[in-house]
Amino acid sequence: MLLDYFPQIKALILDMDGVLWRGKQPIGNLAEIFERIKSLGLKFTFATNNATGSVKQYVDKLRSFGVDVSPQQIINSPMAVAHYLKQLYPEGGAVYWIGETGLIEALEQAGFHYSEDGVVAVVAGLDRQFTYEKLRKASFLIQKGIPFIGTNPDKTFPSPEGLTPGAGSILAAIEAASGTPPQIMGKPYPHLFRLALQQMKTQPHETLVIGDRLDTDIIGGVNAGCKTALVLTGVTTRAEAEQFQPKPDWIANSLGELVGVNS
Ligand SMILES: [Mg+2]
Repeated sequence: MLLDYFPQIKALILDMDGVLWRGKQPIGNLAEIFERIKSLGLKFTFATNNATGSVKQYVDKLRSFGVDVSPQQIINSPMAVAHYLKQLYPEGGAVYWIGETGLIEALEQAGFHYSEDGVVAVVAGLDRQFTYEKLRKASFLIQKGIPFIGTNPDKTFPSPEGLTPGAGSILAAIEAASGTPPQIMGKPYPHLFRLALQQMKTQPHETLVIGDRLDTDIIGGVNAGCKTALVLTGVTTRAEAEQFQPKPDWIANSLGELVGVNS
């Protein structure tokens, strides 16, 4: 198995879409794969840019595929935002936010509440109820000098009808209106991975980031100082991965192949 080539690895940070599943379809026997990962003594955390779903939804989905995880093993871009704001404002405070369940849940758990004035930050992610009025309010606050923080940069994501607008499209609208770019916490920026490293108490050089996208998972892993593995079960071909700079440390057909489970 490919993991034999890197004995220094003590922990994994895994992307989910395109690594564990495509939509509702699991990729390989996930129960067996994670039994193997546990038997190798590896810690693991799941890290996703997706800012809409709640942690419980991921825990339930993993459990439905026979993978038992605790909520602490799931990290999404809103949690990286909340962690960042909590460092600046340990007591919490008022935030103007544009987003869905995942974002609201993470900010409220960190002691922040929604407000339209007197806020410490404007935080935006994917919001499928986004309106001109929300854009206008965010723009006015940012023009007054309130920090503008984005969950994740993904401009679109695939759907049967075509490319659907993602968080990055909303951030682009707010940037156009306010004249200020967001500070983004999701991949490929390192905050999400740093939070995972902190929770697992592992060092970057002994942690392997596994994902299916070069521009987010692999660049993000490199930015955080981690080792990287690209799996070919998602959006990237082997030829694209071979040519990419920085090249992933490992390229595997699947997560199963990486850890030595052939199912
Ligand atoms: Mg993915």
